[in-house]
This record gives sequence, structure tokens and C-alpha cells, in this order.
Amino acid sequence: MNIKEKDQQYIAHTYGRVPLTLTGGHGSYVTDDTGKEYIDLGSGIAVNTFGVGDPGWVQAVTAQLSRLQHTSNYYYTEPMARLAELLCERTGMSRVFFSNSGAEANECAIKAARKYSFDRYGEGRKKIVTLKNSFHGRTVTALSATGQDSLHTYFAPFTEGFSYVEAGDREALAAEMNEECCAVMMELIQGEGGVNVLDADFVRYAVELAREKDILILVDEVQTGNGRTGRLYAFMHYGFQPDIFTTAKGLAGGLPLGATVFNEKTKEVLTPGTHGSTFGGNPVCAAGGVYVLEHLDDTLLQEVREKGAYIRESLSGLPGVLEVTGMGLMVGVRLAGDLARTVEACREKGVLVLTAHDKLRLLPPLNISFPVLADAMARIREVIEG
Ligand SMILES: *Cc1c(COP(=O)(O)O)cnc(C)c1O
Repeated sequence: MNIKEKDQQYIAHTYGRVPLTLTGGHGSYVTDDTGKEYIDLGSGIAVNTFGVGDPGWVQAVTAQLSRLQHTSNYYYTEPMARLAELLCERTGMSRVFFSNSGAEANECAIKAARKYSFDRYGEGRKKIVTLKNSFHGRTVTALSATGQDSLHTYFAPFTEGFSYVEAGDREALAAEMNEECCAVMMELIQGEGGVNVLDADFVRYAVELAREKDILILVDEVQTGNGRTGRLYAFMHYGFQPDIFTTAKGLAGGLPLGATVFNEKTKEVLTPGTHGSTFGGNPVCAAGGVYVLEHLDDTLLQEVREKGAYIRESLSGLPGVLEVTGMGLMVGVRLAGDLARTVEACREKGVLVLTAHDKLRLLPPLNISFPVLADAMARIREVIEG
């Protein structure tokens, strides 16, 4: 059996695979088993923050790997403490819980929001309001938080205590933020939902109403975080501090790591025995995270904004391009033509792209060089212009 046959035979069919076997890469390029090179405008899915095999990142990770690959969370380790310090110093937040994925980071935020309310107000204030078209992960509770009906089949009973409002609908939001509500949870740019940027006035309205009622604001930065949008975290574009934010995907630059980050108000909520993770904050992953955060400086973030603007200029206004959405290097492109065919044609031209709902989605490595990005845009333009 070749690799594809073996995979089809032995791996559960939860993904419609692209017919490519990737074997390596360097920087913003990945290579398949025939030796063909592709410019990777997906970075996995916003995971390989500095592309494939960034020498400094590899050095940081392998140095930790050869010192100590794992210990339990009963002991202190340097990379985890340092990464938490960096996360707090760079965001004004106060404390971090580490896990292994976005869904787990959100589970932790949901538990903490409910406990915050329980500690202050007792039972009964357990509802969490999320937005339609959101995506918060694949565990039963994270799926319950996800505002997409199409994902709410098969796995009932789902976790109760979630309600969904349309992004931008202030009346519906205000009605749901009642005495039963402990938190509002949102992605500021809905990633899987189609790279939809939330309206700043709507977000401000939600934050002000939440402050009045001691309802927590949870921001899911699993995809938007770690420099992706041209600020370290997307809430920084919106000028407020969440009570809790979560992140994962790009945090460790290619290793599994989730973080749930608490502000002053929520930092004491989780106490010994209320939450945990065997692997969470693993020192090798944390060392990757330290490298990523130490290198996401103002110069790099400025470049992320410039490269994002360059993509927008290259694609908007082309015949066949209906809309370009997103911020920084998180870009959605709505096309007039067939989406699946476009993705395939890009692949034939040596460019890997993603989709989100009805859009093309681009999430290149944050350090992609301008010449490589220009090359990728030229190839995509050829595809779109036919
Ligand atoms: C990918 C994603 C998740 C889930 O992360 P996993 O690591 O796959 O569990 C949650 N929220 C958002 C916004 C995401 O993009």
C-alpha cells in the first residue's frame, strides 16, 4: 500500500484530504513526495507562525528537547513560567493556564466563567452568549459554544447553557445578557466562519454592557492571536481588555499548546483541583512559545500589517473577486467563480490556500518575504483571471 492508501485504510475519515503527501519544507515553502514545491499560504492552519524549520525556533525547541522533554505540572519549569510572564507582560493580563489545543483553552475559559459567577452569585447565572457563525472547537462543550446549527447534529445531548446571537444585533445581545448570563464569548474575526471582522461599535457595546452587569467578556484568539492580524492579539485593535482570552494555533509556532489568559478580575477563579492537564504547558512546546513571543516584535507586527495590505491591494478589484475581508495576514477572499476549482488550480500553480465557508482563506507564515508573497499573488491572479 502506498501512503495515501494506507491513510485511507487506517485513519478515520474525518477530513476530506487534499491529494498531497507533504514531506518537508523550508520557510514559506512545503514540499510533496514528488519533490514539487508549494508556497504555503495556510501555515498548517495558522500554526507555523515562522514557516517551516525556522532555524532559531528549531534551536530553541531542540535545546529544550534534549534537556527535559516533559515533567508533570506538579513541578516548576522555566519555559512555562517564562512564557506566562511574556503573555502577561505583553497583554496587561495577569495569569495563564496552559493546555494543548484551542478547544481545551476554550473549555477552560468556559469553566472559569461559570465558576467566577458561582463564587459571586451562586447557582443560576450560567448562560454564555456566543455569536452565530462562530467556531470554538470540536469537544462537546466547545461545539455547544459554536454558533453553527450544522455542527449541532449527531452528538446530542450537548452542554446546556449557551445561546447565540447574530453578530451586530445589539437588541438580541442585550436581551440575552440578562440575569442568567455569566459571559459573552466571541472571536473578533470569525475564522472558520468566513474571516468576518466584527464591527467595532458592536464589540464596544457588548463590552460596556458586560461591565455594567458584571458579565465576563471571553475572547477566542485561537486563530487571530499571536501576531496573525498585525497586533499581538486582535483585541488590541479594538481597544479593550478581555476578562479572559484564549489562544492556541500559532502560539508555539508548530507544536501543540493552548493558553487561557486571565485578567486581574478572573485570575483567582481557578484554584487547586478545579482544572488541570497532563501535557499542558509541556516544556518543549512552551520553549517554542517563548521563541515565538520574543520574536513577534513591533517591526514584525508592522510588516504583518504591510503584507496584509499588499495582499488586499493585489486581489481586490480583480474581475472575479467580490470582496476581500480580514486583518493583517488573516485574509478572506470571496470569489465569483467556483471555490473548490480555484483551490485546485492554485495548487497546480504551486500555491496552497485554505477555505473558510464561501471564501478563499489566506494565513501565510508571518515572516513570509515580500518576493515570495509577490510570487504567490502573481500565481493566484493568474488563476483568478483564468
Ligand atoms: C481552530 C480553532 C479552535 C479549535 O482549536 P483546536 O486546536 O483545533 O482545538 C477554536 N477556536 C477558533 C477560533 C479556532 O480557529
